[in-house]
Amino acid sequence: PVPVVAVVGRPNVGKSTLVNRIIGRRQAVVEDVPGVTRDRVAYDALWSGRRFTIVDTGGWEPDARDRAKAIAAQAEAAVQTSDVVLFVVDATVGPTDDDEAAVRMLRRGGKPVVLVANKVDNARLEAEATLLWSLGLGEPHPVSALHGRGSGDLLDAVLDAI
Ligand code: GDP
Ligand code: MG
Repeated sequence: PVPVVAVVGRPNVGKSTLVNRIIGRRQAVVEDVPGVTRDRVAYDALWSGRRFTIVDTGGWEPDARDRAKAIAAQAEAAVQTSDVVLFVVDATVGPTDDDEAAVRMLRRGGKPVVLVANKVDNARLEAEATLLWSLGLGEPHPVSALHGRGSGDLLDAVLDAI
């Protein structure tokens, strides 16, 4: 079976942009409006000759009445249906309470989690990415999904985790 990689994180951190970058096509729905929840969408991907399925998730609705529940549900679904989780954080914002809530759920799931520090568009922002060590998920992988910076190293790490 082809391994499944789920992309999880708060709305607007760049999950769909990252998925587009990874699949090499503009296909995933990119939203400029935060909080638009979308169904999970799966795409075929290939890196270093290895196939995998990448699942773009909608992110939880930030104004949901019970946001903690929404975060837990998304993280749980991602963990149950995937072999590896790509957890995306906006490095220009830093770790938020919602990010930390998601991390607690993901760790409980026991699947490997690769931490993505997105929106590291230039070398100066690498310092922001190192702050994400505080999430306790190990090394943050700095990328710019928008410009492609760091995406090759990230994919190498994903294949290592599968
Ligand atoms: P999602 O809600 O997590 O799927 O986020 P989207 O992929 O829809 O992106 C949300 C916004 O962040 C869009 O305006 C993207 O262009 C922008 N964005 C995504 N990745 C990057 C990045 O690496 N750098 C910058 N500067 N903006 C980004
Ligand atoms: Mg999206």
